[in-house]
Amino acid sequence: DKGRQAVQRAREAFLSGRTRPLEFRLQQLHALQRMIAEKETEIATALKQDINRSQYDTPLLELIGIENEIKLAIGKLREWAASRPAEKNLLTISDEVYIQPEPLGVVLIIGAWNYPWALTLMPLVGAIAAGNAAVVKPSELSECSSLLLRALLPRYLDKDLYPVVTGSVSETQELLRLRFDHIVFTGSSPVAKLVMEAAARHLTPVTLELGGKSPCYIDKNCDIRVACRRITWGKFINCGQTCIAPDYILCEPCIQGRVVECIRQTLLEFYGADPKCSPDYGRIVNQRHFNRIMGLMEGYTPVVGGQSDSSQRYIAPTVLKDVPPHSRLMQEEIFGPVLPIVTVSDMDNAITFINEREKPLALYIFCSDKKAIKKMIAETTSGGVTVNDVMMHYTLNSLPFGGVGQSGMGRYHGKHTFDQLSHHRACMVRSLGMESVNLARYPPQNRRRARRARMALTSPLIDMSKRTLVWAILATIIGLGLVIALLVILLIAAGLNCTCWYWRGFYN
Ligand code: NAD
Repeated sequence: DKGRQAVQRAREAFLSGRTRPLEFRLQQLHALQRMIAEKETEIATALKQDINRSQYDTPLLELIGIENEIKLAIGKLREWAASRPAEKNLLTISDEVYIQPEPLGVVLIIGAWNYPWALTLMPLVGAIAAGNAAVVKPSELSECSSLLLRALLPRYLDKDLYPVVTGSVSETQELLRLRFDHIVFTGSSPVAKLVMEAAARHLTPVTLELGGKSPCYIDKNCDIRVACRRITWGKFINCGQTCIAPDYILCEPCIQGRVVECIRQTLLEFYGADPKCSPDYGRIVNQRHFNRIMGLMEGYTPVVGGQSDSSQRYIAPTVLKDVPPHSRLMQEEIFGPVLPIVTVSDMDNAITFINEREKPLALYIFCSDKKAIKKMIAETTSGGVTVNDVMMHYTLNSLPFGGVGQSGMGRYHGKHTFDQLSHHRACMVRSLGMESVNLARYPPQNRRRARRARMALTSPLIDMSKRTLVWAILATIIGLGLVIALLVILLIAAGLNCTCWYWRGFYN
């Protein structure tokens, strides 16, 4: 019932029109920026309690990303929200033709627990910028973070427009029965199907940010030492509970041993001899996930790690080698600190391996041959791809972030969030003049009229944007200049010619 009331209030607040002025949106974004700056320590403490995340990792992995999103939105809001001129054809050349981004209404943001701040606040930044109201539903599994978010957000932002609704599955299901104008869901594919089903009842569009198995191919011709350091970081940070973490490694058998050794060495550098004692190494979020990950490891002899402690939900960074391609471990997303290595005969075999499976959220390629890199990108697909590193494409907010196929639909980050959460309204403002141009499309029709109408309607699009016009004017000026210069040269030449004739006549 609390959820229903919150949505009702958000809808009324949206309908009041107060999100329309850009000044209001900017003020809310500044307030959110202040919240992150002032509450960094509290946020890091909450995550320490939720998943034992290091206090240094929270700014690095979540807060900097949110701050970047806010800064970008503040700086670019006027540009993003402005009407965008569209190309015209001959028939509409004197009309005003543009695309106007408009707020959608009330957005529902459902977050996952592994990055509880980024996964709720990054969509929220776009929702605010686009002029929407937004109901935020953080995951119940990261409880401390959820409660803190619920306490903090109303202290900084408009209470009615951006409520936080906490609760577990039943509360989320209750929310999903209500009508929203867009739903941004981050979580697993099975739950995403329920979300989409519920959204379909109201024809509500959805953005689904899901997971899956993100492959990581290591070519034998690359700096394996550096590759393994980067992979080890991306795989074991947040205790492997990252949607874009490399899920498994593909490499040729001849480098498998070296890959294992390099990862072992890096783990020693990162977390010491006993990662359990390292302040930088996290824990599994709950007992269910702990049991699930332990179950996935059953029947394997780890070549690195393998230790666990159920009382702390601790699983050591673990590497498994020669994992059969069709084992259970290779069927579902691991989402924990277990890294299987599957061997392939060559890059082509790796490409086939990737393409035989669901389209992943991310793909990582470590390779120093530029041609081979282009080939692998061209012959595979994934939500995003980073070459010679992991996860870094996520950090650049000019790039759209999202999945494809089973790894999700829709995209966000930076302007992409603004666009995803806006309606792009097609606007054409004509005049009632020049009616003769329009006569051809009216009845009664005949062959001549129809031909004229076809000609007008099929005329090519002309780019009438300011930049094109400036270029056209410049080109005209330069062209005219050239013509004038040519004329002057011709005149001078003609003059010289006359002079020559004169002197020739004089001497003769
Ligand atoms: P989840 O699907 O279990 O839960 C996500 C959200 O859905 C939570 O807020 C939860 O309260 C709600 N929920 C759970 N069951 C529900 C139900 N039956 N009906 C309605 N709502 C329900 O996912 P999770 O365990 O929180 O997160 C892990 C998954 O999320 C992984 O698959 C991971 O790859 C993915 N993920 C993706 C991204 C991304 O950006 N693409 C980021 C983080 C996590």
